[in-house]
Amino acid sequence: MSAGDLYSLDVDEPTALTPMLSDGFEDWSKQVASTGFCSRPVRLFGQARTFDRRSGQHLSTFDSRNLPDSVLYVRCGNRRASRCPSCSHEYQGDMWHLLSAGVSGGDKGVPESVSTHPLVFLTLTAPSFGTVHSSTRPGAQPRPCTVNAAPGLCEHGRPRRCTEHHDADDSRVGQALCPDCYDYEGQAIWQWHCPELWRRFTIRLRRLVAAHLGMSEKASRDLLRVQFAKVGEYQKRGAIHLHALVRLDGAPSDDDPYPSPAVDVPASWLAERCLEAARDIEIDAAPVDAYDSARVLRFGRQVDARPVQRHSEDDGDVSPEMVSAYLAKYATKAAGDVAVDGTPNRHLKQLRETCLELCGRALLHEGFSSPYALLGKWADALGFRGHFASKSRRFSTTLGTLRDARRKYHRDREQLETHEDPSSADEPLDVAEHIVVLNEFRFVGQGWLTPGDAELARSAADAAREWKDARRTARQPHEKGKNHGQALLHR
Ligand SMILES: [Zn+2]
Ligand SMILES: [Zn+2]
Ligand SMILES: [Zn+2]
Repeated sequence: MSAGDLYSLDVDEPTALTPMLSDGFEDWSKQVASTGFCSRPVRLFGQARTFDRRSGQHLSTFDSRNLPDSVLYVRCGNRRASRCPSCSHEYQGDMWHLLSAGVSGGDKGVPESVSTHPLVFLTLTAPSFGTVHSSTRPGAQPRPCTVNAAPGLCEHGRPRRCTEHHDADDSRVGQALCPDCYDYEGQAIWQWHCPELWRRFTIRLRRLVAAHLGMSEKASRDLLRVQFAKVGEYQKRGAIHLHALVRLDGAPSDDDPYPSPAVDVPASWLAERCLEAARDIEIDAAPVDAYDSARVLRFGRQVDARPVQRHSEDDGDVSPEMVSAYLAKYATKAAGDVAVDGTPNRHLKQLRETCLELCGRALLHEGFSSPYALLGKWADALGFRGHFASKSRRFSTTLGTLRDARRKYHRDREQLETHEDPSSADEPLDVAEHIVVLNEFRFVGQGWLTPGDAELARSAADAAREWKDARRTARQPHEKGKNHGQALLHR
């Protein structure tokens, strides 16, 4: 089963609200809830047989034929909000835990002591590829669109600047003032090399940290290590921005995976090194073909690095809760959410087409040996082929660990309900330890069976999300820090 199969098997039979009319509505609703209100769950047909590992005894058989629709629904797990709001919401929650554990510790096996390590919130931007319409940041003083651009007309007869004021939802925001002047090729090629810029940035940062302490990089590794978590975000102009948390730790061991750095430096020192590294690096990008010339690629000038102060009430601080929450939100804003495919957004469409054109030119010129031969494959991601969210190994826990823990929790609860009475059992609560499940399932499709079912699942999902959000907000009383963070991130 390939990803292609998953997306080609869509629901298309227009039927009425079948579960409402059938006796199995309650069972069906349970299935909806068990998928976490996924909007496009995978449908599986088959059996799961449960055995006791110690005795070999067959305990039970779970058969999808006993379920409503005769299939088992499993959540799709897509992290893009445009594909599945529920699964993306869950991903965002996991991402929040992962980041928050790395920022404040005291969660998911990360000790609270990491909250004393120097931590920097870093934003690496793309450079300018031409003037685009821009909106005023929420909460900022309204200002004309492109006030710093030169007056007059460009060589294509279009105004070089725009004095209007645009709201954030104005469809012109992010569009080029002159598509003919705008360097679409430059942007596509920059996005293509962006993962390499990031990689070089991390190498350069480690070197600079060592050099500023007067050590070789090898010697510095015994005293400190740079850990990071990074998330990519598309701007309105389709350019990728990288937001990262950069933390200094000591050299980890099996006994202490998150030790404090052995050198006492403030977060502001680390922020300086981040800025320096971002300014230092560049890439010589090969030309696309014989008619093209080489380009020197760098990060944009609006690179920003701020210390995250975790034990202070100072107004100027970036709050740790805000940083984790916003990075987690960015992590779900993937290419799917800039809606390139079939979009009326001319600018993004042009960028996508440029990726395809460059790929074609590269193949004609050098075949598959060209560095741009695969650019077309990433046209929907506007040329960005990197991970939207990544981290160094020791930043904190992994998404996989979080998912396993949740799965285990649900499985244990289910098995306690079906097999054992916890009050009389002399086994540990961890019943899953000696239970073996043999799964024999076949993929039969994706999505709820009818449009009516899909609609019911969607409204249930909305209600569940509202409830969860209300609960989460009640647990995070950091409104002041949050607002400040919002202003900071929209700069
Ligand atoms: Zn889903
Ligand atoms: Zn404008
Ligand atoms: Zn022009």
